[in-house]
Amino acid sequence: MQTITTVAELRRALAKVRHVDKRVGFVPTMGYLHDGHLALVAASRAQCDVTVVSIFVNPTQFGPNEDLSSYPRAFLRDEKLCRDAGVAILFAPDAQEVYPSRFETFVEPGELAKSLCGAFRPGHFRGVATVVCKLFNMVQPDVVFFGQKDFQQCAVVRRMAIDLNFPIEIVTVPTVREPDGLAMSSRNRYLSEEERRRALAINRGLLAAAHEFRSGERNVERLVAIAKGHLETVDRLQYLELVDGDTLKAADSPLRRPAALCAAAYVGSTRLIDNVILALPTP
Ligand code: AMP
Repeated sequence: MQTITTVAELRRALAKVRHVDKRVGFVPTMGYLHDGHLALVAASRAQCDVTVVSIFVNPTQFGPNEDLSSYPRAFLRDEKLCRDAGVAILFAPDAQEVYPSRFETFVEPGELAKSLCGAFRPGHFRGVATVVCKLFNMVQPDVVFFGQKDFQQCAVVRRMAIDLNFPIEIVTVPTVREPDGLAMSSRNRYLSEEERRRALAINRGLLAAAHEFRSGERNVERLVAIAKGHLETVDRLQYLELVDGDTLKAADSPLRRPAALCAAAYVGSTRLIDNVILALPTP
């Protein structure tokens, strides 16, 4: 595995790979890797000849009062995990490499970025779309892998890839969970043991609603209420919304189209997100 920190060096390394027509898979991350990230790497290894992982804690997607400075970092550990997972290139630029002085050009996503997290984290998806666009141009992959845990991020990036004509296949990988159901996240490390126990309510609520959905419940209000009934142990529920799977706007009731039940909640001072897809059985 090569660890690379500059775009110029990355281009040189990838030119050699492209010369022999290898399929390049790309997994963008902010590091502090866990099994969720490694599932994306495994998916890339299964579908591509060469896997590139980026580790970059992107300042433009954090709000002024968010956790940019305290975001967990463990570069040497991450590097070893990547090497052991069969990553070919680990790209770990610093902020100056990605955003040189006088940087001023951003990618502005549209409607998909306005609901759910977008409503509570102004500018977040602008930062995400901008860095993903830049990383796509730097790596020029054939396939990119994102996690379903960040459902809205997947939708925003898919839209951006179409709108800006990136010839890149985008693969969404199912959410990897701890044995007790908590969605794996780099931010889980902020949770105390007691908070971690209370955080389980999020997945429990989503699963309860999904169970009722599978049993035939199609009423949006009732499905949301079922999930909400489990969420009393979180400290602050930011949103719990059943949205249309394509538009990410409030789903029409009764459900007749694929939808996603999405939640964001604070447990202590840690903000956690999770979701479950409610796919209608094919007729
Ligand atoms: P992050 O480092 O949190 O920016 O995440 C990098 C990528 O890993 C994103 O595509 C995330 O959706 C994905 N990811 C994060 N957590 C999980 C998880 N528990 N299961 C699957 N993918 C995940």
